[in-house]
Amino acid sequence: MKVLVVGGAGYIGSHTTYELIRAGHEVIVLDNLSTGSTENVHPQARFVWGDIRRKSDIVHVLNAEAQAGAPVEVAMHFAAKLIVPESVEQPLAYYENNVEGLRTMLEALVECGVKNIVFSSTAAVYGEPITPECDEGDATEPINPYGETKLACEKMIAWVGAAHDLNYCILRYFNVAGADASLKIGLDKDQLTHLIPLIMQAALGIREKLFIFGDDYDTPDGTCIRDYVHVTDLAQAHVLGAEYILNNKTSLLANLGSGSGFSVREVVDAARKLFEVPFEYAPRRPGDPAKLIARIERADKILKWKPQHNLQSILKSDYEFRKRRIG
Ligand code: UDP
Repeated sequence: MKVLVVGGAGYIGSHTTYELIRAGHEVIVLDNLSTGSTENVHPQARFVWGDIRRKSDIVHVLNAEAQAGAPVEVAMHFAAKLIVPESVEQPLAYYENNVEGLRTMLEALVECGVKNIVFSSTAAVYGEPITPECDEGDATEPINPYGETKLACEKMIAWVGAAHDLNYCILRYFNVAGADASLKIGLDKDQLTHLIPLIMQAALGIREKLFIFGDDYDTPDGTCIRDYVHVTDLAQAHVLGAEYILNNKTSLLANLGSGSGFSVREVVDAARKLFEVPFEYAPRRPGDPAKLIARIERADKILKWKPQHNLQSILKSDYEFRKRRIG
């Protein structure tokens, strides 16, 4: 299949491009390089600079492919802002980039007759979970502008899908980390709120130590439990999702996680088996639920997708990628 990966120069978009190419698909990456880099674009993918908020940038690519006789069959959307505290400070920027950006992209897809979209969503749409294991059918009540914009996008896609015969695959990510086995791509922009990048910074001496936020949660060791999934597993789910909606002319919404939870302390201890991690306990961080784990039966049943990596391999690949980058 021919795929347009919008935001393919960033972390998850670049890993998905690698997996699409490994599976034998043709990829065009469109990115404005605001956070991504051309170094992340697979050499066999075609790169086009463009901004998701400018319809003509997308239409131009789609029309050129159609006129050449091999139209784009699936579009993937990764071009979003995703830092929760930033979204709280700058909600309008999040609505503009995430919601308006998707609206523009959908307009271009409808205009050019592209009938399939794969969309990156997030566990943040669940908000404060009522049950610790999130099911796709659970209530969605985001507690920050980031989650709110992603939920608005999910709803927009469903309405546009119904009106214009557009199939969609919406994937809700849990805690994504790790790097491609080639170590050519990984998370090269540090999101300084996330646990695994901060563990790596402490391990590599970029920061003095890691702070574990809270040891008095209602969990076995008192620290928060999360579901960590390797970026390559996640990327492979996008390939399966795109193939599924294209071949079956249908739509799907699914969680992507590992289906199991690790406490912050367990993640730190797993990392300490691989390298030194100076750390200290600190007070709770506001807004952190005690436990957040994905139910992944739907992705397993429909896409035949099962994560192949574990916490150890997530940490190892992430560490090796970063060491190589700074070394
Ligand atoms: N966390 C921590 N120290 C840090 C960063 C994160 O103890 O420096 C904890 C955080 O409180 C949460 C877990 O690690 O319980 C995962 O946080 P992250 O920001 O990576 O992802 P979230 O689940 O909040 O999206």
